[in-house]
Amino acid sequence: MWDTILRRVIWVAPPSLAVASGVRARYWATDEHSGVLAIWWLGIWQTMRSVPWRLHLSWQLRPLQRHVETLSDPQELQKRWQRRVEDLVVAVPPKSGTTMLLQVCHQLRVGGVWDASAFEDQMDVIPMLEGGPASLLPTNDINAEQVAVPRIYKSHLSFRRLPKSCKRIYCFRELKDVLVSDWHFTASILESDVPLDAFLVMRLVPGGIDRALKDMCDWWEHRHDPGVLFFFFDDVLEDKAASVERVREFMGLESKPGLVHQVVEQSSHRFMCEHHSKFDDHKIVQELDRIRGVKREGKCELVGKVRKSGGRSGSGEALPDTAIQWIEWRWRCIVQERLGFRDLQEMRSAWAAEQARSKLISADLSTCQFCGMHNAEVTQEAMDVHYWRECPMLTQCQYCKQVIEIATLGPHLRDECEAPQAAPSAQDLRPTQCPLCRAEVGSTEEDWRRHILQEGCAGNPRGKGP
Ligand SMILES: [Zn+2]
Ligand SMILES: [Zn+2]
Ligand SMILES: [Zn+2]
Repeated sequence: MWDTILRRVIWVAPPSLAVASGVRARYWATDEHSGVLAIWWLGIWQTMRSVPWRLHLSWQLRPLQRHVETLSDPQELQKRWQRRVEDLVVAVPPKSGTTMLLQVCHQLRVGGVWDASAFEDQMDVIPMLEGGPASLLPTNDINAEQVAVPRIYKSHLSFRRLPKSCKRIYCFRELKDVLVSDWHFTASILESDVPLDAFLVMRLVPGGIDRALKDMCDWWEHRHDPGVLFFFFDDVLEDKAASVERVREFMGLESKPGLVHQVVEQSSHRFMCEHHSKFDDHKIVQELDRIRGVKREGKCELVGKVRKSGGRSGSGEALPDTAIQWIEWRWRCIVQERLGFRDLQEMRSAWAAEQARSKLISADLSTCQFCGMHNAEVTQEAMDVHYWRECPMLTQCQYCKQVIEIATLGPHLRDECEAPQAAPSAQDLRPTQCPLCRAEVGSTEEDWRRHILQEGCAGNPRGKGP
């Protein structure tokens, strides 16, 4: 009799565990990714149909594992990379505008001069920081001098894996559009006919959406750091000139008449399509093909990183409904839960308002850029004293004594402060919570000004200011 019971338990246990973990992820720990729930959501039949494709693609990529080296361990990267203060990392996730932003940075550093013979492939002049497929190229040397200063690096590493003391540019693109772009790109490199829905299963079930959204939240919390330049992909498309100008300023390059205009032109979709072969990774693909032992029929026609009909927004609407709903639900569980924004549109508007305000104020040296204190006769020195002792929006980190914005004290304690007690002290602090009084505030600058300047923060030693 025990035998039968045991057999039944063995038979019933795995499915019940799967159901339990799915239910837990759906209603309980909604900020944790669950592969089981994703399979259920996308459809079991759909998932089964993608299995042969998954096997097919991993079989194709199998020979590469021994050859491709990715430096994703932060300590190993610190050790191997002889960093300079002015080094610039374009740390943009795959298919989110990396190639275009690299072209912007490169053209800015060469003063807008376009010389068609300067490079055969973008990777000739810009190495990939962590290696990855670029490690197949003998020229990918992260410590070498580059054709111009500052040195520029391409990277797909997350905020947490990158060194904090170098300049970093980040750009977030609507994930539905990223998936469609990724599908075109991967299918072309591997010469595969993998259908979109099978490709989606491969991307969504292992938790790619969750990782991308959590990383974006990390960047957002550090968007005002002096070493970070934050972009939304659609803002770059809508106002390229303003974006190029921001990059120029961030790189500390002198403004020359006509430079920004020139670089806008040289990084346009039209221009980069005309010089398609410089941006299609053909050198890496040749290496990949060599290792895999495949020969492409006829002339190699790569979709490349600048797709002829790509570079726009909204192509993600072509995804099946289940995938769209999954992505939107993950947004609510991760981004809305952590930062309060219901969707990308709302987040972009908040960002645009912040930038408009800081532009207005930075032009005016007699106004404090944090609290808005205005004094027409103020000197730079008096303003520094204001920041150091009085400004109610700022506070001194009790561990390292740096003066920082109250709004960024939480992320500072968690990710940056060198004092060992700092991170534990912020462990149960929610990002939308005030680190001084623990009240629920929000995540935009407007929320923080209301809390500190209007309502008054009970835990702020500087009160509502002078
Ligand atoms: Zn102030
Ligand atoms: Zn500190
Ligand atoms: Zn407070």
